[in-house]
Amino acid sequence: MKYKRILLKLSGESLMGQQGYGIDKERLGAYARQIKEIVDAGVEVGIVIGGGNIFRGLSGAAKGFDRVKGDQMGMLATVINSLALSSALEAIGQAAVVFTAIPMFPIGEPYSKWHAIEAMRHGKVAIMSCGTGSPYFTTDTGSALRAIEIEADVMLKGTRVDGVYTADPEKDPTAEKFDEISYDEVISRGLKVMDLTATALCKENRMPIYVFNMDIEGNLGKMIAGENVGTLVHPAR
Ligand code: UDP
Repeated sequence: MKYKRILLKLSGESLMGQQGYGIDKERLGAYARQIKEIVDAGVEVGIVIGGGNIFRGLSGAAKGFDRVKGDQMGMLATVINSLALSSALEAIGQAAVVFTAIPMFPIGEPYSKWHAIEAMRHGKVAIMSCGTGSPYFTTDTGSALRAIEIEADVMLKGTRVDGVYTADPEKDPTAEKFDEISYDEVISRGLKVMDLTATALCKENRMPIYVFNMDIEGNLGKMIAGENVGTLVHPAR
């Protein structure tokens, strides 16, 4: 197995499947099955989920909400998604613990690095909600931070496309996929892998990111087994 401990970032948007809003049970179930498969194979799994399927602070601010309150609403949205995923995991016999960066026991356990690691060591999936716990950040930054904190070998970013391309493959048919690329090149080419804060955090702390399409069932297991199903973004050697 290529990786022993991973941090998987799932976007809120991907949870809505074909629905356009909320949580698609089929999609959630497919994610849960893929996650259980790698835990069964012995991988320690931490997860950070976004909230974009329910609420985003920035779009709230555009509609006149106070930005900080909007971001807090967004963070609560990540808690809703995290509870949904933990429920889907438990339904198929995979134990999971939801941690919250903002204390709200008994909805989740207050987050701490050590409790998250302890849960993973016991074969439980550690779902870390609320992003960073602070406004003006994204869950990409939250997942970069948690990946570094829990000493993950890699941060996996499940997206709709199967990796990092020279241009947006949904718009430009001539776009070519990278098998691997350095952070510096991602930044100099202006490629949108994650927001700048998250990219800087990963680069500074030498955390590699693997971008792949999580919506193709089985891809997570393949990635862990070392198959080339996406793009590795690495600190320059
Ligand atoms: N958010 C925040 N701080 C964080 C992470 C998230 O304030 O550390 C808020 C922010 O308003 C964001 C929303 O939660 O728009 C949902 O997160 P995100 O947009 O990253 O979700 P995704 O795009 O991955 O679904």
